[in-house]
Amino acid sequence: MSDQPVLHVKGGVLVGPRDVRDELWVVGGRVSYDRPTGARDVRTVRGWALPGLVDAHCHVGLDAHGPVDAETAEKQALTDREAGTLLMRDAGSPSDTRWIDDRADLPKIIRAGRHIARTRRYIRNYAWEIEPDDLVAYVAQEARRGDGWVKLVGDWIDREVGDLSPCWPREAVEAAIAEAHRLGARVTAHCFAENSLRDLVESGIDCIEHATGLTEDLIPLFAERGVAIVPTLVNIATFPQLAAGGESKFPNWSAHMRRLHERRYDTVRSAYDAGIPVFVGTDAGGSLPHGLVAAEVAELVTAGIPPIEALAATSWSARAWLGRPGLEEGAPADLVVYDEDPRAEVGVLAAPRRVVLNGAVVE
Ligand SMILES: [Zn+2]
Repeated sequence: MSDQPVLHVKGGVLVGPRDVRDELWVVGGRVSYDRPTGARDVRTVRGWALPGLVDAHCHVGLDAHGPVDAETAEKQALTDREAGTLLMRDAGSPSDTRWIDDRADLPKIIRAGRHIARTRRYIRNYAWEIEPDDLVAYVAQEARRGDGWVKLVGDWIDREVGDLSPCWPREAVEAAIAEAHRLGARVTAHCFAENSLRDLVESGIDCIEHATGLTEDLIPLFAERGVAIVPTLVNIATFPQLAAGGESKFPNWSAHMRRLHERRYDTVRSAYDAGIPVFVGTDAGGSLPHGLVAAEVAELVTAGIPPIEALAATSWSARAWLGRPGLEEGAPADLVVYDEDPRAEVGVLAAPRRVVLNGAVVE
């Protein structure tokens, strides 16, 4: 048994978007809806409780220049925790952050191993940079190293073409995705452009990161196959700045990035309207700071996703998609308590009153 005091959360417990209970107990680090008998040391927290938020695209152990030391990675994880992010899907990191799994005070991480990119076609020091003949072998390696996901870089600027272009031939991604699935891992890919998407989706990919190139002709294909997207709108917001930086050398690429940026909200809204699963991801840990989950939820609402669905995209539905529990009986007590009902106004996510991780109140 844990020596943690019993915690009593009172007010509104958002077990689901429309499943609200009055109270919850935390006993031995786990969620319970039965008042414990004989508990002497009880601490009460009042407010509106959500399952610990999910950042479905971030990077721990990485900064703008590549891998960082454990101390920096710890700071990143603590910043996420402070923001209420208690479950992260790490979308690629060159650092070994496995030690975080032994720390009950740090958020839970679902890893995608290290990014797999084409030679010289990604940010320096981030990815395994390989050629298509080696793709299956690297995917198998990262599937074994990760926690059920593999991350590909699906498109990137091709300096000879002067624009974004797909990184992999169709046969290579077909074989690689089949291999990942055989090993029980799902596959996702970084894609900014339009023309990398069809091959990946028809090859059975499970998710697309950013997905700025998702056009009307591809939306039905995504919807039919249930391919999720993680738009990372807080990252897409930096496209104009990137475009300006590359303007003189790569004018076509710059113009392309600006077009993708201009229609970003329409892209996300059209995807949502077509029934494509959309999840919250911040892309923290590359060039962006950690802790931006509330800002990304607000961006999804700006794009036109109903607030309760934007909330689900970082809580109930995101957890279900990643195969992790929410606030059901017996689940690890990972929850965030707010002053107000976040279903009415997602802005309240920016200021958690209390964060509870593995049953412990974070001070
Ligand atoms: Zn990323």
